[in-house]
Amino acid sequence: MLKRLSKFFNRSSSQKNDDNYLVLNAHEHSLNPKKICKHACEIVRVLQNNNFEAYVVGGCVRDLLLDLNPKDFDIATSATPQQVKRLFRRSRIIGRRFQIVHVQFGRELIEVTTFRSNNTHKNEKVQQSASGLLTRDNMFGSLHDDASRRDLSINALYYDTEKNTLHDFCDGLEDLAKRKIRIIGHPATRYSEDPVRLLRVARFAAKLGFHVDSKSLKPIAKMADSLKQVSAPRMFDETLKLFMGGYGLAVFQLLFEYRLFAQLVPQTNRLIEQGHPTAKNMVAQALSNTDLRIRSNKRVTPAFIYAALLWPAVQKIASEYESQSHPAASAMNKAANEVISNQITITAIPRRFTMAMREIWSMQLTLVKRGGNRAQRSMENPRFRAAYDFILLREQTGESLNGLGDWWTQYQDANEDERQSMVQKLNSGRPRKRRPRRRPQGSTNA
Ligand code: ATP
Ligand code: MG
Repeated sequence: MLKRLSKFFNRSSSQKNDDNYLVLNAHEHSLNPKKICKHACEIVRVLQNNNFEAYVVGGCVRDLLLDLNPKDFDIATSATPQQVKRLFRRSRIIGRRFQIVHVQFGRELIEVTTFRSNNTHKNEKVQQSASGLLTRDNMFGSLHDDASRRDLSINALYYDTEKNTLHDFCDGLEDLAKRKIRIIGHPATRYSEDPVRLLRVARFAAKLGFHVDSKSLKPIAKMADSLKQVSAPRMFDETLKLFMGGYGLAVFQLLFEYRLFAQLVPQTNRLIEQGHPTAKNMVAQALSNTDLRIRSNKRVTPAFIYAALLWPAVQKIASEYESQSHPAASAMNKAANEVISNQITITAIPRRFTMAMREIWSMQLTLVKRGGNRAQRSMENPRFRAAYDFILLREQTGESLNGLGDWWTQYQDANEDERQSMVQKLNSGRPRKRRPRRRPQGSTNA
């Protein structure tokens, strides 16, 4: 597909129409309409039959052109949210910053967005803060306006499923062919309107393996600070997209390089920059394991990822408390409180996840104590699996835990008798108050 696009651009670098944008017919774009979800096609059909403009747009067009499986299908239309709602029985208007319509087909949800404009000169409905942040942008616009307010050229491709034509306003096809991530318009201005775009550049560059256009790249590190203006709940959602999309390691590498990671997880970033022996490995290994799990359709949870992202900071603070004579469990608890309360001002991690993170961390201590029936009891803890995986992760990243991970791996595979003897062996190095009861008669215990 990309080869075909490149050929097309070599042949004719500009085949723009009278409105100065590129329209490709079926024989030119080779986007297969059968790959578009039939519900999205139906929405486009209904809207167009009612004299509205409607296109499939955004990530799904981009991904189909790259032979990837789109995550979802978005539709852009000239119909207002109310007009869309009237046409589809199972639909509802949602959204605070801007209204969109969710149209439901069985379990599938399709987002329909009215063409928007963020032209601040033309609209009083578009509001900006002193730093240029768009605080309100609910102004409807033309198809052309809608394309220019999108983030990246490759995300501003519109596909008309009825006419089988592909519409490109911002040279997105050329950038797809050149494997380039490029911000539409003036990069610094677009980043200050919405600093989340800084993260989106890193995310798509990592996901697609594209390079970032030099003009789009240049202001990123300098503007990283502006992420502080983004609300903590939105930042949390963005971190999930960054780290749970199946390409988290590549995202992390770019975030770190662009100095954006310092904004997302400053406590751990500081340690990495100070040369902490395992902090960077911890983040990288956790994300690489997560990528693997996603690829093999295994469950991943934000709690585990955040537990790993923040572990170096928790561990450091806990050891400081311990050196001030706090017992290990209370040191860990105090460290967890501090680290979590710093982090949630940046990314609002919901409470159910912070609870799980605390449990994973505190079980790092309990899983060391395996005497008597403690090992058995730990295994019955609903958080055991995550805490055990966390031990393996710590060992993978270079922490030395005296074979704790292996011990637990064997213990889980062992039968009842073997488990008892594993626990007894642990105790054999320590002074015992009384001999174990079940020792066979006659055996000597040297
Ligand atoms: P994916 O869903 O695969 O992660 P996507 O490109 O569909 O990628 P979404 O977050 O679903 O990303 O957004 C849909 C479209 O909305 C994008 O393709 C882009 O055109 C536009 N968009 C999303 N976020 C922004 C933003 N912060 N600024 C400008 N345009 C945006
Ligand atoms: Mg999408």
